Amino acid sequence: MRIGVLALQGAFIEHIRMLNNLGAEAFEIRNSLDLLEKPDGLVFPGGESTVMSKLLSDLGLFEKLRSLIISGTPVMGTCAGLILLAKNVEGGVPSIATMDITAVRNAYGRQLGSFETVAPFADAGNIPMTFIRAPVISNLGKNVRVLAEVDGKIVAVREENQLALSFHPELGQDTTVHTYFLNMVSGTI
Ligand code: GLN
Repeated sequence: MRIGVLALQGAFIEHIRMLNNLGAEAFEIRNSLDLLEKPDGLVFPGGESTVMSKLLSDLGLFEKLRSLIISGTPVMGTCAGLILLAKNVEGGVPSIATMDITAVRNAYGRQLGSFETVAPFADAGNIPMTFIRAPVISNLGKNVRVLAEVDGKIVAVREENQLALSFHPELGQDTTVHTYFLNMVSGTI
């Protein structure tokens, strides 16, 4: 199983480390040539969505990534990566726009920009969650399932082959979310 991790900006090394720890191969996607490696799954990390969006556009990667996802390649977007997946973005960042959700950027405001909590994820029980100037999710399409909520706000969703998280599962030791994603890639869930 080979996972392509978008490596233009942000916390991509941490995702690669965690995938490797779980026995999956991972490689960096820096330009469209890297996509010739035909990833079995894609990861879009956290970082700054406006910067990533501009680089994706400059590198001609928007359409190529969009068509991989539309043709069924499993994808996990975390934080800014969630914003890249959302069909609608409050704050108007151009996105890959494959997931039927609205991302509300910086939804926790500046005062409460970053925090950690513990909350249930899917059917895996409580897991630690790290939020850094995080978006929340609203306006779910009919095929979008909620996997986690914190204080009444939706922070994890799945729509078929797409998984999106407001928080940063790559920053701690807990491997629940990456294990869930690898199970999506292997087709067991
Ligand atoms: N606030 C950032 C944005 O809008 C996302 C923050 C993150 O990825 N940790 O892109």
